[in-house]
Amino acid sequence: MTIEGTAIARITGEADVELRDGRSLGFAGLFTATRTTPASPIAEAAGCALVETPMGVQIRTTDSKETSVSGIFACGDVARAPHSVSLAVGDGAWAGAQLHRSLVWPEG
Ligand SMILES: Cc1cc2nc3c(=O)[nH]c(=O)nc-3n(C[C@H](O)[C@H](O)[C@H](O)COP(=O)(O)OP(=O)(O)OC[C@H]3O[C@@H](n4cnc5c(N)ncnc54)[C@H](O)[C@@H]3O)c2cc1C
Repeated sequence: MTIEGTAIARITGEADVELRDGRSLGFAGLFTATRTTPASPIAEAAGCALVETPMGVQIRTTDSKETSVSGIFACGDVARAPHSVSLAVGDGAWAGAQLHRSLVWPEG
């Protein structure tokens, strides 16, 4: 495996890559990592802090999935990386449990 340090200038054809230093590399296929941003402005409108990550803009949360606004929790792609169905489902379960805990034991 070769790790190429030069940045990609553009993708041409189906899976050919032109590097910033002018070289071109041809591949059978490409796997790309996409950056995402929250689809809805509701969290930002509520005052929740956002954070810039390698996977895009996300809602900043604590380990218990609480945002910077007390009582508002966020989970899934909008508040964690990497993006995956199973991690998003687990994140949702954890956020729900933590939200419940915050209602029953507000100081805990
Ligand atoms: C092309 C692609 C391929 C992928 N392949 C895989 C894979 O093979 N395996 C894997 O584990 N993961 C894969 N993922 C990642 C996976 O899809 C996500 O990590 C997962 O769906 C995140 O779940 P989520 O509930 O956090 O967000 P989402 O699934 O994005 O759900 C958010 C929901 O909120 C809704 N919504 C947004 N704004 C509003 C609003 N204002 N009001 C009401 N509803 C709203 C949206 O319509 C959406 O239904 C893939 C992602 C993409 C884009």
